[in-house]
Amino acid sequence: MEVFRRASGIHSPRQVTEDYSPPMQPLLKDQSLLKTQAYAAGHWCDARSGKVLEVRDPADGQLLGSVPSLCAEEVEEAILAAHRAMALWKKEPAGFRSKILRRWFDLIIEHTDDLAAILTAEQGKPLAEARGEISYAGSFVEWFAAEANRIDGEIISAPSADRRILVLKEPVGVCAAITPWNFPSAMVTRKVAPALAAGCAILVKPASRTPLSPLALAILALRAGLPEGLFSIITGEASVIGSAFTKSPEVRKLSFTGSTEIGKSLIRDCAGTVKRVTMELGGNAPFIVFADADLEAAIEGVMTSKFRGSGQTCICPNRILVDARVEERFTELLATAIRKLSVGPGTMQGVMQGPLIDHSALKHVENLIDDAVTKGAKVLVGGKRHPLGGTFFEPTLLTGCTPFMQLARCEIFGPIAPIFTFKNEEEAIILANATEYGLAGYFYSRDLARVWRVAEALECGMVGVNTGFISNAASPFGGIKESGYGREGSHHGLNDYLALKYLCVAGLGS
Ligand code: NAP
Repeated sequence: MEVFRRASGIHSPRQVTEDYSPPMQPLLKDQSLLKTQAYAAGHWCDARSGKVLEVRDPADGQLLGSVPSLCAEEVEEAILAAHRAMALWKKEPAGFRSKILRRWFDLIIEHTDDLAAILTAEQGKPLAEARGEISYAGSFVEWFAAEANRIDGEIISAPSADRRILVLKEPVGVCAAITPWNFPSAMVTRKVAPALAAGCAILVKPASRTPLSPLALAILALRAGLPEGLFSIITGEASVIGSAFTKSPEVRKLSFTGSTEIGKSLIRDCAGTVKRVTMELGGNAPFIVFADADLEAAIEGVMTSKFRGSGQTCICPNRILVDARVEERFTELLATAIRKLSVGPGTMQGVMQGPLIDHSALKHVENLIDDAVTKGAKVLVGGKRHPLGGTFFEPTLLTGCTPFMQLARCEIFGPIAPIFTFKNEEEAIILANATEYGLAGYFYSRDLARVWRVAEALECGMVGVNTGFISNAASPFGGIKESGYGREGSHHGLNDYLALKYLCVAGLGS
């Protein structure tokens, strides 16, 4: 880890703590991508207070580095700098913005291995999955590089002959983003790329557990030629930065991805300055397997979506609803597939499931299993901490689950696949919609009429029909109900960063 240490400036006195012992991986090809300073007001900086936040590898708890904990005043300065930078950026031709984004995309892809290594080190997901996330993160930059050229206005038929009505699309203003730890890279580019394409400046507060991936992305954006001050990475305490963002009259939009609880409080805080908000919040996805489904395909779908990120994603199936007539066969197949999952540090060859993010996540998963078992569920596979120790948990299959168990009502956010049964389509839909969340839903069926009926009946923003994999840059990602509002990805994702201005041109004669 000498390489890691020299590159990051970890040796500087502010960052060395007594228990610091550098990890052995990853060895980066481009060591300058490992940055432990914030990027605010157009320059790399430490906190004036000297305060830092430590970043640790969830696989072994080792210290990876520490990032500055900026104070409210430093955040306010960064917001003002963003405002100044945006004044020039929004006037640039769309093609200019598009070219810089395209260069950023090329650099992200070129540095996939290093970005994936940093991601795995701080987040824990297996390297193959981390590479997948970098490709997904890059796809938003590529997508919005193209979309930047298509921000076209409108001409609307006027109600009288002497008038013309035009609609202009303008950047919404300085944007702020707050992102979670489960997709440290993709959740950043999904917000930053459309903001920059639209002509906005954006400040990102990354999750404190995973700031190194966003910092590496910022380095590449600057290398791509992005002018200073447009894209800041503000590290520090969530409440300090969150409150500086929400209070600032200069910040015109807040885009948040995270838990519903924090999302609700940010919505309240944004009301003071009437900011536009995008909320990508929690989920409680149903995964319905009808009796007419291709069961092998359904197993593949559930394995893809349930165990990605050790079950720590917002669109993971939370409740697997299976027609009672095929439950036995489906459960058997699923148990076989789950037993094949290899658990270990994300850096290890062949590992399919990494650690959970921290001990409180581990405890949460244990409590959910205890509660379910007390209320009658059976543990068919796993069910306990993994012999590797730390925050590793066994991939788990529970049968006999009911809506009265806690895991039916909250986000599991861990590697538990709970099976519920239903008797008919009507009951399946009632069970599926019995949640305040409405992010993703999945179902498997080969009956075309049922496909349309169920797709339309599910109360969620995204539906996977005969697939467990629904995320891509071309599609509008987002939820309804308490899973939030606004969409990311697709051309809708750009609209969230644009404000409409209508021009009424009068006095043109008859
Ligand atoms: P979280 O606790 O809500 O944190 C998300 C972000 O909010 C982090 O950057 C966190 O900072 C920050 N934060 C926490 N308290 C804050 C406050 N008072 N003011 C301002 N910011 C605050 O969620 P998480 O545990 O990181 O992520 C998991 C959650 O994200 C799950 O609920 C998951 O479903 C959701 N998620 C949703 C989507 C989607 O697209 N809908 C995608 C991914 C994840 P610190 O890290 O410093 O605490």
